Amino acid sequence: MPRALVTGGAGFLGSHLCDRLLAEGMEVIAMDNLITGNTDNIAHHLDNKKFRFVFYDVTEYLYIDGPLDYIFHLASPASPIDFPTKPIQILKVNALGTHKSLGLAKSKGARFFLASTSEVYGDPLVHPQTEEYLGNVNTVGVRGVYDEAKRYAEAITMAYHRYHNVPVRIVRIFNTYGPRMRLDDGRVVPNFIGQALRGEPITVYGDGTQTRSFCYCTDLIDGFWKLMMSDQTGPINIGNPTERSMLEFAKEIKRITNSPSEIVFKPLLTVDDPKKRKPDITKAKAVLGWEPKITLEEGLKRTIDYFKTKIHVH
Ligand code: UDP
Repeated sequence: MPRALVTGGAGFLGSHLCDRLLAEGMEVIAMDNLITGNTDNIAHHLDNKKFRFVFYDVTEYLYIDGPLDYIFHLASPASPIDFPTKPIQILKVNALGTHKSLGLAKSKGARFFLASTSEVYGDPLVHPQTEEYLGNVNTVGVRGVYDEAKRYAEAITMAYHRYHNVPVRIVRIFNTYGPRMRLDDGRVVPNFIGQALRGEPITVYGDGTQTRSFCYCTDLIDGFWKLMMSDQTGPINIGNPTERSMLEFAKEIKRITNSPSEIVFKPLLTVDDPKKRKPDITKAKAVLGWEPKITLEEGLKRTIDYFKTKIHVH
C-alpha cells in the first residue's frame, strides 16, 4: 500500500487531500503544528488504522519511520490576515519546511508535491495568468512574506529536482473555498458568509472592483491528484477561471443566503491587494485532463451549510 505524508494535513486543503488519498487506498500521515490547522478537520479519520496524525513543526528536522512514496507539502498559513501576524512562520515553513520536506523526499525516494500559489504572480500585469508569466511582486510589501516565500519554495523544489533528481510536482493554487475553512480565516468567502448569516454588514474592501476566481475545494484536490499521478513537473495553475468582482460576489452571497445584511465598503487590508486574478488553465486541461466541475452556486451552498453548523444564528 502506498504511503503518503501530508504536511499541513489538519488544515483546510490538507484535510481534504487526506480524505482523497485515503479514498484512493493510500496510507496517510498528516503532519501539522496546528497554528492555522485544526484536528476537527481530521477527527473523522482518527480511528482509521491507515491514518496517523503527527503534531510537529515541519521546519524542524523530519524523521518518519518506514517507507514513503509521496510527500505533499501544504503546510503554510495562507490568508492575508496571517501575513502581518505570522510573517516569520510563513517564511520559515516555506523556506526551512520546504527544505526539510525535500530532504525527506530525497532520502525516502519519494515523489514531492509543492503547494505553491497564484500569489507568485503578485499584482499581475498579465491577465489571465499563464504559468509563463513571471509576476509582479513587491518584495518589501506586507504580502511579500508569503509571495517571496512561495517563490523561494518553487526555486528550492526545482533545485532538488535538477541537482538531486527528486521527482517533483508544483501546483499554483488560485483562490479556493469550501467546508473546513476557518470562520475567522479572514478571507473573503468565510468573511462574507459569516457576515451574511449573522446579519452583520458585508465588508467589501476597497471599491470592490478587484476580481477573484473561486475554485471549490474538492475540484482543486482532484487537480492535485491528477498532477501528482502524472509525469508533469509543472508549475501548473489549478483554479476555477470564472471571474467576478468582490462587489458582485458580496451581492451573490447576500442573495444565496437570503440575508438582510447591508453591503459596506472598508479600506483594503494590504496596498498590494491584487486588482485582478484569474487562472489560465489551458495547461491543466491539456496535460492533466483536469477542469473544475462544481458551480459556484453549488459550492457556496455546501460551504454555507458547513458554516451554519459553526455559527449560532439568531
Ligand atoms: N475582501 C473583501 N472583504 C473581506 C475580505 C476580503 O472585499 O471581508 C477582498 C480582498 O480585499 C481581496 C479579495 O476579497 O481583494 C480576496 O481576498 P482574500 O483575503 O480571500 O484572498 P486573496 O485573494 O487576496 O489572497
